[in-house]
Amino acid sequence: MARTRAAFYDPDGVRYGLPTFWWRGAPPGYATRRQLRAAGLRPGGQPIAGQVMWRGVGGDRVAYLYRVDLARPKRTATPAQRAAVDKALRARRTCSTCGEVRWYYIPRSLGECLDCAP
Ligand SMILES: [Zn+2]
Repeated sequence: MARTRAAFYDPDGVRYGLPTFWWRGAPPGYATRRQLRAAGLRPGGQPIAGQVMWRGVGGDRVAYLYRVDLARPKRTATPAQRAAVDKALRARRTCSTCGEVRWYYIPRSLGECLDCAP
């Protein structure tokens, strides 16, 4: 086990060209893409900062690491995008006959609200 870990330990990237750690051996401040996502973050265009390697079934495995301090929050809708969505949803609830905004979507088959529909 110790030899395996040593083979995958290259914090300066001398052997692999990237700072390399064994699985679970990565220092604090680094995270895989999956770990970032679990924390509500994304790499945000930063280069790969390092890698973790481990001996898996069928061969050596690798996962890339990103720096947590360079990660950005997940993309969220801008106010303008949200407003557009709100407007679209509101339009679907607005009766074209009486102009009232209903709490339900206007049925396409009727084309007007339940009060106006015959
Ligand atoms: Zn109506």
